[in-house]
Amino acid sequence: MSIPAGPPQGNAVKTMEPRQRRTVVTPSHGEGAGGKAGSLPQARSFAARLIRWHKRHGRHDMPWQNTTDPYRVWLSEIMLQQTQVATVVPYYERFLRHFPRLADLAAAPVDDVMALWSGLGYYARARNLHACALAVMREHGGEFPHHPDVIAGLPGIGRSTANSIATFCFGAQAPILDGNVKRVLCRAFGVEGFAGNSVVEKRLWRLAGELMPKRDGGTYNQAQMDLGATVCKRGKPRCESCPLDDICVALASGRTGELPEPKPRKAIPRREATLLVLRHEGRILLETRPPAGIWGGLLSLPELPEAADARQWATRRFACRVIAVAPAPTLDHAFSHFRLRIAPLLLDVEPSSAAMEPGLCWLNDEELATAGVPAPVRRILEGLQASGNRPLPSRKR
Ligand code: SF4
Repeated sequence: MSIPAGPPQGNAVKTMEPRQRRTVVTPSHGEGAGGKAGSLPQARSFAARLIRWHKRHGRHDMPWQNTTDPYRVWLSEIMLQQTQVATVVPYYERFLRHFPRLADLAAAPVDDVMALWSGLGYYARARNLHACALAVMREHGGEFPHHPDVIAGLPGIGRSTANSIATFCFGAQAPILDGNVKRVLCRAFGVEGFAGNSVVEKRLWRLAGELMPKRDGGTYNQAQMDLGATVCKRGKPRCESCPLDDICVALASGRTGELPEPKPRKAIPRREATLLVLRHEGRILLETRPPAGIWGGLLSLPELPEAADARQWATRRFACRVIAVAPAPTLDHAFSHFRLRIAPLLLDVEPSSAAMEPGLCWLNDEELATAGVPAPVRRILEGLQASGNRPLPSRKR
């Protein structure tokens, strides 16, 4: 097996379990799953409760708040996808130090962007970020468009992110539907089914649209995100502190642990890959991964094709003489859709040609420290350094 070159598989669910086909509640048809009050909260009340709650209990001091600069808001929205706030903050601040304006990001080589993103994961976000900056410069004169539909046409920006930018920066009244909001809506309104399923998601969008207030859209959207992140948490919601506690269907029916319904389980495939650590005079050979697919565009250790002999393949592929070969400790890495076992193989080599193919480079320790490499490759390199990175006894196989 090898690291797949294609894009990750999506989360679409092909079929729904019988249980998931039960009623999906929206305010328009007024069916509940047994709410305490026996009826659904009205849209105005729902928004007003959240806006009131946010004034006292919401988050107000994150680095991307208190600004209407669409560049900063957009950057935070992209970084926060599938990533915790605490992880994002240092990346966000470092990114802004390097690229204070959208024009700086657009003018930078994509490799610099990838290097700054290195370790944050989901690297398609970084490639799209750069592509989006270029598109804004090229097609919108360097100014973010204001309308959510136009924003959603930019690379890497989905409907929820576009609406978020439009409400926070341009006063639009557009609903959002990120993971936190989905969780709050599923619980508060007793929405059944996996929220990633397209039918369920469509219903959630309709519900979100009906709940959207006519004013204070930015505060309302932020309140939903904050409630999901700090009170209506995934593991253990703090219902006693929730402004929706008297109208929440999940709480009233004792189903806070069941809603939202998890993604239907399926076995996570396991793959294996051999990565070659070619070493010569204190330098290590890295190559740029293809732009699409896993680790696309990042520097990585060369991957040995399946069933190939490492010594022969490396000799041919990199025009070098292999002096010694030895395995290094394996490591496991979990992607969203498969688990990868990496078997690094150390090869001490003597390059026989000074000419290097494009996409290949020999880096020393200092250069490796700042190179944009995927997290597991970083672990391999750090493991090598920790063990002294000593040459192998020659003739060892
Ligand atoms: S009452 Fe509990 S489950 Fe319901 S929305 Fe509030 S925190 Fe979530």
